[in-house]
Amino acid sequence: MIQVSNLSKWYGPLQALREVSFQVDEGEIVGLLGPNGAGKTTTIKILTGYLHPDEGTVRIGGLDVLTHTREVQAIIGYLPENAPLYPELSVQGYLKMIADLRQIPPDEQLERIAEAVQAVGLEDQLTRPIGQLSKGYRQRVGLAQAILHRPKLLILDEPTLGLDPTQVLEVRRLIRRLARDSTVLFSTHILSEVEALCDRVIILMNGQVRADSRLSELASTPDAIVVLESVPAGLEASLRSLPGVRALEPFRSADGYPAFRVRGSPSQEAGLCPAIYRLARQENWPLRELRRDVRTLETIFNQLVATA
Ligand code: ATP
Repeated sequence: MIQVSNLSKWYGPLQALREVSFQVDEGEIVGLLGPNGAGKTTTIKILTGYLHPDEGTVRIGGLDVLTHTREVQAIIGYLPENAPLYPELSVQGYLKMIADLRQIPPDEQLERIAEAVQAVGLEDQLTRPIGQLSKGYRQRVGLAQAILHRPKLLILDEPTLGLDPTQVLEVRRLIRRLARDSTVLFSTHILSEVEALCDRVIILMNGQVRADSRLSELASTPDAIVVLESVPAGLEASLRSLPGVRALEPFRSADGYPAFRVRGSPSQEAGLCPAIYRLARQENWPLRELRRDVRTLETIFNQLVATA
């Protein structure tokens, strides 16, 4: 659905994007995660045809954004960071204006508006001026305008920015629902948002893609956590002698028992647990717990920030 190749963008002397490449397949929901200034909005503006890159190409649904801007914009629903809503217009009046701009035939407009309004839960607000709506409801109006023409692809720039916790949960639920019918790419700087919504995350830092992975793959490591009642003599040497063990890191478990993080090599897809389990049974170790270590997105993100 989206193919981005080697995008670079300068604002005067500042290079905002450095050879950014990624792709998003049909049906995916992908988070573009990065701290402030990482280049998320710049990427999104280029994807939606509102900004030209200095280098690189973007293809959406097989079409080049630069040469087929209008066709591409017709298959995208876009929620900009600050959606240009008209405060004096009613919700209905605004959506009618968008339907005209989207060239939706007049005899289909009512049905399309009703469909979008229902999808985002705005039925009770139709006649209210947009300026009188809460921020959460204004965001729903932004989402309604983005889906009015039934786009195959939704691109949302920081869709929950500035919302209160209840509104955040509502908008996330809404995005999950919209993702049933469309591919979704959204930007955020909130880790939990990615964990709550995405199949895949692309981490952008200083204008570069630093990670691009399914969340499940990103989280898994070959490492094992071993918690024991006590540490038998020779345990450390036995663990170290297992094939693929790179290092042992002793620590105390949350409930105070001696524990080790056993570091394996990334090539070991099955992880170290099966071999450690066999060894523990053979040696009769007082094992309390044996599990694969899982990295959270926060750990990964912090590691990337530290090495940026
Ligand atoms: P945020 O989360 O703060 O919105 P972002 O990841 O969306 O950040 P961008 O807005 O794409 O990042 O900005 C990337 C870099 O480009 C930043 O250093 C920003 O200051 C700079 N930048 C963005 N727009 C312009 C502009 N119009 N002129 C000059 N510099 C710009």
